[in-house]
Amino acid sequence: MLKTNEEIRHRIAELAAAVSDDYAGTATAENPLLLLCTLRGAVFFSADLVRSITVPIELDFLKVHSYINTESALEPVFDLGKDINVSGRHVLILEDIVDTGKTMAAVKRHFEDKGAASFRICTMLDKPERRVPQCAEIVPDYIGFTIPDLFVVGWGLDYNEKYRLLPDIMVYHPER
Ligand code: 5GP
Repeated sequence: MLKTNEEIRHRIAELAAAVSDDYAGTATAENPLLLLCTLRGAVFFSADLVRSITVPIELDFLKVHSYINTESALEPVFDLGKDINVSGRHVLILEDIVDTGKTMAAVKRHFEDKGAASFRICTMLDKPERRVPQCAEIVPDYIGFTIPDLFVVGWGLDYNEKYRLLPDIMVYHPER
């Protein structure tokens, strides 16, 4: 087991407090913090986090992966959320795990081009050892846990749609 249910809950409460503090002056009833949850892995993390945030928020959903175009730039492929209006909004992406950084680099590029007032990333897990050089600038602003280069499941993270409901975060061992 990598992180227990208790550790995860405790850490999410800390992250919610940090987000609430940081956006206390910025998020208002007129311009609430726009939380964009990435489907599907971040749903469990987001549900717990969002309920403990104390500033005004709005919640929406993205489903996205990345590809590399002919200029070697990362482009996002949106299955959901491409046209969310972020102009003038403070955007906080809620991600399950940042691995190579390609997904977040593509998402960042897309939303910054669309005029977000600010753009930050909050991830339950970060695997900085796996970052590719072209995404070195992807350093999440809020990180639940930094973990080594392991494939993990549980707390919303799946392997081929299995293990999402595990109450703890576990390392996936294909041989077992
Ligand atoms: P990136 O674009 O940063 O390489 O990939 C991020 C996505 O890859 C995550 O949102 C997640 O869906 C998937 N991913 C990366 N590492 C893991 C892992 O250890 N376990 C699971 N279940 N998914 C992972």
